[in-house]
Amino acid sequence: MSFTHAVTRPENADELASAILGHLTYTIGKPTDAATRSDWRLALTHAIRDLVIAPWFDSVRRSYAEDRKRVYYLSMEFLIGRLLEDAVDNIGLGDMARDALEGLGQDWREVLDDEPDAALGNGGLGRLAACFLDSMSTVGLPAHGYGIRYDHGLFRQSFHDGWQVEEAEEWLRQAHPWEFQRREVQYRIGFGGTVTPGEGDAAHWEPGDAVLAAAYDTPVPGWGGKWTNTLRLWSAKPERLFELDRFNQGDFVGAAAPAILAQTISRVLYPDDTTPQGKELRLKQEYFFSAASIRDLMRRFLIDHEDLSQLPDKVAIQLNDTHPAIGVAELIRVLIDDHGMSFDAAFELARGTLHYTNHTLMPEALERWGWDLMQSVLPRHLQIIEMIDRRHEAENPDRPDVTRIIDHGEIRMGNLAFIGSCRVNGVSALHTDLMKRTVFADLHALHPDRIVNVTNGVTPRRWINTCNPGLRNLINDRIGDGWVTDLDELEKLRPLADEAGFREGLDAAKRANKVRLSNWLADRGAGTLDPDALFDVQIKRLHEYKRQLLNILETAALWNEMREHPDRDWPSRVKIFGGKAAPGYAQAKLIIKLINDIGAKINADESLRGRLKVVYPANYNVSMAEKLIPAADLSEQISTAGMEASGTGNMKFSMNGALTVGTLDGANVEIREAVGPENIFIFGKTADEVHALREHGYDSRPAIEADPRLARVISQIESGEFSPGDPDRFKGIGDTLRHHDWFVVTADFSAYWAIQRRIDDAWKHREDWLRKSAINIAGMGRFSSDRSIRNYAERVWQAETME
Ligand SMILES: *Cc1c(COP(=O)(O)O)cnc(C)c1O
Repeated sequence: MSFTHAVTRPENADELASAILGHLTYTIGKPTDAATRSDWRLALTHAIRDLVIAPWFDSVRRSYAEDRKRVYYLSMEFLIGRLLEDAVDNIGLGDMARDALEGLGQDWREVLDDEPDAALGNGGLGRLAACFLDSMSTVGLPAHGYGIRYDHGLFRQSFHDGWQVEEAEEWLRQAHPWEFQRREVQYRIGFGGTVTPGEGDAAHWEPGDAVLAAAYDTPVPGWGGKWTNTLRLWSAKPERLFELDRFNQGDFVGAAAPAILAQTISRVLYPDDTTPQGKELRLKQEYFFSAASIRDLMRRFLIDHEDLSQLPDKVAIQLNDTHPAIGVAELIRVLIDDHGMSFDAAFELARGTLHYTNHTLMPEALERWGWDLMQSVLPRHLQIIEMIDRRHEAENPDRPDVTRIIDHGEIRMGNLAFIGSCRVNGVSALHTDLMKRTVFADLHALHPDRIVNVTNGVTPRRWINTCNPGLRNLINDRIGDGWVTDLDELEKLRPLADEAGFREGLDAAKRANKVRLSNWLADRGAGTLDPDALFDVQIKRLHEYKRQLLNILETAALWNEMREHPDRDWPSRVKIFGGKAAPGYAQAKLIIKLINDIGAKINADESLRGRLKVVYPANYNVSMAEKLIPAADLSEQISTAGMEASGTGNMKFSMNGALTVGTLDGANVEIREAVGPENIFIFGKTADEVHALREHGYDSRPAIEADPRLARVISQIESGEFSPGDPDRFKGIGDTLRHHDWFVVTADFSAYWAIQRRIDDAWKHREDWLRKSAINIAGMGRFSSDRSIRNYAERVWQAETME
């Protein structure tokens, strides 16, 4: 027993307050009268962190002692957001911590809001990885998250005259007390160089240059503090910090240059969420973290095991998208070159250990690397990839060309991940089905048992319990708090949908959230909002397939209609947008400008008497989502059917009682099943219909001609009605809609308009709306990421959760 000291859990707010004061004094080094808000936040964080450490050690010790199978979740992105409040709630000290801090004269919310939002991801994929970390700890699965400790996460967005402007994010400018640097854990990661043949299948790779991967660990406590896993992020460090001889020759900048170059590998997150980056730096990032993670997990495996053939019984590696797919070649390389295995034996072991999650059906979005680039950056891996491809061909002599890993001078990482994995999964039922029929149809035919579905989920700890205390308390009062770890318990709310008292409670909780959000938005220049208006929210990455454009076109059409019929009984609506566009994605940035321009026009129109507002707070991130989602009445999930793999925003909204307007896409299909078609607003073309439209080259003219509202809005956009100073500004958008409407915005407009008017009507029937809202919450059990993780454990990893 190595553990000798544990901080005792405070019994009451006074004890916790004294722990906070202790840290303020002795860790932060500030007296109370000089302490800033950040000082208080750090002191509180240290006091809470102290309570997480002993259970963390305990989990690590138990996982060695029990020798259960370990899961390694490799993800280029972890969109974890703030950690303090979640940790406080997970260890069950939420109320006590608030009391302690307020007893010390500090505002709880303001202190929590001081924490930087760790945005080490772009959107859904990274947030999924973060929810999975929480769930793997909560269900007691021994697991590690592995990723990159970017110095700069996703850029900070602001608007200048309605245009998106990007600035570097500086989340590490403040102390980050959640992480522990493990100075003893460092791996040398090489690039380039030469390969000389060795014995048998082995070779000797002498890299041309190298960086060090340095480990930083963050504890991830599960609910109730029963199990705590580790998120290990890698930071790139130079082998030598400084070239003294160059310095002595007066080359002061040059003396530090090699070090700076090495560090660029973990400098920034690529801010693009769906388009792959064919850049050398990106490939190096991917190899850097995959290789460090694999060496680290092999080291851990070898502590207690000598027999490498046990690897698939003790280790499951999940590749989150193709970003870590180079890990397939790396694991095989390690087994051959470092452990003397034959290629065939190494391949079999690797294929028993690795699993791959696909996140996109767009073939152009699956990563590909040029043969020449791979040859120059990872020459040994290229050889191994060639061996894998040859072996696959030998085993499947009739395989079609699309299943090749290397083709036309490119390495297809999707095929490498598929062929090198034991299980390949899609992230919603529809997505998995389409995967079998489209991107991986031919590989699926060769390997019919490999693809499985694991529908995404979100953690109900962060996405109900912590972000929506009003709703949490209401639910706890009626059915207890078992739902926090067993979300199917929410089914018990279904009968309460018919109870007026419960509906009133829902109404009150929602209204309080809306008041709070209105104040927050007012502080950000949104003006006064009516908390009794319908809050209609679309927050997600700005992408053409997500169709924010459809939403803003409908908004402009509604504005036209309201001006034409001012006396009609229009319900008040607040249209809320949030989301960032990739810096190089010109069309998405133009759509942001369009939303802001149309919004400015509408918001200035006094004839509407405030019945329609458009707000677009800048810099959407996890903590903004935590404020917006609990206050939403309507959730916009209107992607072109067949293009959103799952969505997880859709789940967060329904859990918080918002009704969904959506297409039959991604997990919307399963949400409809769970809540019943009468409690969700589904419209538009199905995936098959979209496919059929495109097959014949979709022509938007008939749709535009058939709908005068749509025709008018497009003309207004083209004539400069929303951009009088620059009438040609949005010509490109008009042109896209008329001639290259790949995302079939025009084909779905009429149906979208019609369903929005049905929603206007439904909104007026308050009791019925609340009933639907209650049923949405009650049906959300299956969208807990605990369920996803249990599915992975059973169907993919063959790993056991805690008793
Ligand atoms: C949940 C979440 C996402 C994913 O949203 P989708 O609507 O599924 O695209 C993206 N960003 C943040 C900050 C999130 O919390």
